[in-house]
Amino acid sequence: MLEDTIAAIATPLGEGGIGIVRISGTESIIIAEKIFRSLKEKDWVKNLNYGLIYGYIVDPFNNSIVDEVLLSVMRAPNSYTRENIVEINCHGGLVPLRKTFELVLNSGARTAEPGEFTKRAFLNGRLDLAQAESVIDVIRAKTSDSLSLAVKQLEGKLSEKISNMQDKLLYLLAHVEAVIDFPEEDIEASTIEKIKAEIKDIIKEINKWIELARAGKIYREGLAVVIAGKPNVGKSSLLNALLKEKRAIVTEIPGTTRDAIEEYINIKGIPVKITDTAGLRETGDTVEKIGVQISKEKIMGADIILYMLDVKNGFTDVDCYVLDEVINRNLIVIINKIDVGSGIEIINNISNKYENLEIVQISALKDIGLDLLEDAIASFVFSGNAAASNEIIISNTRHKSVLKRVVYNLQDVIEGIENAMPLDIVSIDLRNAWETLGEITGSSVTEDIIDKIFKEFCIGK
Ligand code: GDP
Repeated sequence: MLEDTIAAIATPLGEGGIGIVRISGTESIIIAEKIFRSLKEKDWVKNLNYGLIYGYIVDPFNNSIVDEVLLSVMRAPNSYTRENIVEINCHGGLVPLRKTFELVLNSGARTAEPGEFTKRAFLNGRLDLAQAESVIDVIRAKTSDSLSLAVKQLEGKLSEKISNMQDKLLYLLAHVEAVIDFPEEDIEASTIEKIKAEIKDIIKEINKWIELARAGKIYREGLAVVIAGKPNVGKSSLLNALLKEKRAIVTEIPGTTRDAIEEYINIKGIPVKITDTAGLRETGDTVEKIGVQISKEKIMGADIILYMLDVKNGFTDVDCYVLDEVINRNLIVIINKIDVGSGIEIINNISNKYENLEIVQISALKDIGLDLLEDAIASFVFSGNAAASNEIIISNTRHKSVLKRVVYNLQDVIEGIENAMPLDIVSIDLRNAWETLGEITGSSVTEDIIDKIFKEFCIGK
């Protein structure tokens, strides 16, 4: 158990029905007792082990009532952090919350660091690291598919998968060590060959996880899409048409002077992030020279570029110039305004110049072909893989880089065996792989990594 007691306002600041001040640590109950009065349940500190009581927050300095509240009491170990937790459900206004929080701090708690509640849940063994990390994914989920992936991880499905894999490695390690301890040459050769084959299978499997992590990351962070093209081809119209039907949530990006708005649209459960760059038009950093109303930076950072042409303007030199630049990227060419012309000529022109281009014909104005465009975007996410199956997939970049290191460790094992290295060395590499894998669930992980992970969290979580 950690010594000090932490507190934070756990709900967003602003007006709301309720707002919660959360307290966790050995002193939580004692702190709450100093500032909470219940008319009916005078002995709650003694009698209430777990539950809710109605009463008032009172400033002990002058006995004035600050707010009418509900107090949730969750004693260790039956709480999120496994410590004593008290949550004060105030009215959701800035002043009652701030005032209550101040009283909590004056009564002996200290302000919690970002993510410190979840960090304590991890340190006290309530969650492993992968589960703790998923908490933030649940909070930030952008579509219900992203949510269900995060919740599976929170439930421990990923941890289970990792620990099963760790067990497999441990089993092989035990065999290698048995051969070291009881060397009998004919057994040795066949056992080691078998181990090598099994490790090759494991590498294959982990590489499959790494491959699927691309889709996982998209569910977690969103697929960055830009719509580029010459002025007036209908880019804004497409954006509006998609937003009208598919808007998921709107996030303001802090720190952007232009107030760019990131819009998330939900395409077949995939959170697709379209950045509205309308504000960029008047500034200098557009690719104005070639008449493309979108910043180069946005194009380069995108997962998919939607390059738009229209039936009226056709396929011009400018389009050709830009397409040459982006032809090796994930690219979908959109031919817009098919309500006023067939676009066949454009398709012929482009197809003569570029092979295997994905071309979608739409009318943003008349809502024609948008479903085909959505199919095309979604198919990029899975590129031939079966769509989001029930299997848990890796979505966190940290996990993916751990897996890559595990593969390196295992390749060292194979190399060691193939070069007839002493088995002691082989067993060290195998143990390294096992340990590296444990960084995902936190069974083997440094304090630095832990600190870095929880810094990403919001205050009060
Ligand atoms: P942007 O400059 O590329 O963002 O183009 P806008 O979305 O502002 O559209 C330019 C003009 O084309 C507007 O007058 C739109 O109404 C028109 N437009 C956009 N999409 C279509 C379409 O599918 N069919 C037709 N006929 N006109 C369209």
